[in-house]
Amino acid sequence: MADDFRDNGGAGGDVIVAGGGIAGLTTVLALRAAGIPAKAYERAPALRTAASGNGLVIWHNAVLALRAIGLEKELDAVGTELRRYRFASRPRGKLADWSLTDGARAYGAPAYTVARPALHRMLTELVGDDLRLGARCTGFTETPDGVTARFEDGSAVRGPLLVGADGLRSTVRAQLMPYEPAPHRVGMTACQGSAALPHSAVPPGVFVNTFGEGTWFVYYRTDDDSVYWDAVLCDGPARRLAEGAPHLGSGIREALLREFGHWPSPVPELIGATEDSGILPVDVVDRDPVPRWSTDRVTLVGDAAQPVTFNLGQGANQAIEGAVVLAQCLAKARGGPPAGALAAYGQRRIARTRKIARRSRANAAFSRFRSPLACLLRDTFMRVAFDGPVYRATYRLTMDTDLTPEDIRP
Ligand SMILES: Cc1cc2nc3c(=O)[nH]c(=O)nc-3n(C[C@H](O)[C@H](O)[C@H](O)COP(=O)(O)OP(=O)(O)OC[C@H]3O[C@@H](n4cnc5c(N)ncnc54)[C@H](O)[C@@H]3O)c2cc1C
Repeated sequence: MADDFRDNGGAGGDVIVAGGGIAGLTTVLALRAAGIPAKAYERAPALRTAASGNGLVIWHNAVLALRAIGLEKELDAVGTELRRYRFASRPRGKLADWSLTDGARAYGAPAYTVARPALHRMLTELVGDDLRLGARCTGFTETPDGVTARFEDGSAVRGPLLVGADGLRSTVRAQLMPYEPAPHRVGMTACQGSAALPHSAVPPGVFVNTFGEGTWFVYYRTDDDSVYWDAVLCDGPARRLAEGAPHLGSGIREALLREFGHWPSPVPELIGATEDSGILPVDVVDRDPVPRWSTDRVTLVGDAAQPVTFNLGQGANQAIEGAVVLAQCLAKARGGPPAGALAAYGQRRIARTRKIARRSRANAAFSRFRSPLACLLRDTFMRVAFDGPVYRATYRLTMDTDLTPEDIRP
């Protein structure tokens, strides 16, 4: 690159990306698509293996972002197209049924379900040698002409820019915002698993979300063999789970069957077909939005910038969108230092992710109702409003992207 911000604005070298999750790897690929070399530094010593389920829905907005950097075909190869998104109530049955095929037609891109390990593997292979494993970033030093990232093994690397893509408990963010409290628990435990069930029990292309009382259960197929499932317990039920399976991992399947064993098929079958060791409990945490993510040469992307509780299924989608928008802003900064590009990135992303995070929190509050009366009101509201106004509002919010595909082309 002859004329980018690295030459005219200070230190040469590659952009440094701390973290090799979805945000970090997509950032490297988006920067590469814009002609800006970058390397990711991941603390894990080896690539993750598919220990358990970990499914993800990749909505139309992230598919458009991946298309902007030429990766839609690769996603299509590992994902399963999602056509229907169904909401049900455990006692009252079907509540709403969204056609994602209509969404795909309206926005020009399908949505997918994907096993997270498969998506991660795909991104890792594409990044290739631009990923260093076993490199835990411990901090950075920023000067007017560059930034130096330090690693646990005593090594250091200097570059024109540092992108903190190191997740919910980001070290880069902690240095940028030293007085910020740690992420707070929201009182929800999500237990994820993956089981082999035939197409007759769980057809491909359908996401099912069933609400109970302080509990809900999600399942969908991630490929021909596997069905991802997620049993979510809030407040009281979450505490019961912790008491029933105190060493989380041993006895967790039995504890979940006590909560969900009487739910309609295939819920008990999915839990029953998953070993204790294949069930991954996650305590959901959140952070309040902040007005700034960047200094002149350091910024954040993905969960490090703005975590989103999983109630809108947008966390990884926003990580992908954010990585692409960051690369677009930097591509425009050729010929000058990156500070202006980082300010533009903040302007394009902070308000959007704040709205998404707020809506996700509202969904979380709505999903944790426990009293039978509150659940009856919730279910009635969903039956009346979800296929109409809520569907339209969700699409308006999630598809309000400001991606400019032409900017990203090298
Ligand atoms: C139960 C559940 C279901 C979800 N479902 C969905 C869904 O359907 N759709 C969706 O869009 N989102 C979903 N999400 C959210 C999604 O998982 C996250 O938003 C997404 O993983 C964020 O990606 P990230 O790369 O920013 O962070 P992470 O995935 O956390 O990756 C951060 C990476 O940085 C590394 N790292 C950390 N610290 C350091 C360091 N100091 N130095 C170097 N490396 C470091 C970590 O090892 C990790 O590899 C879900 C979340 C949960 C809990």
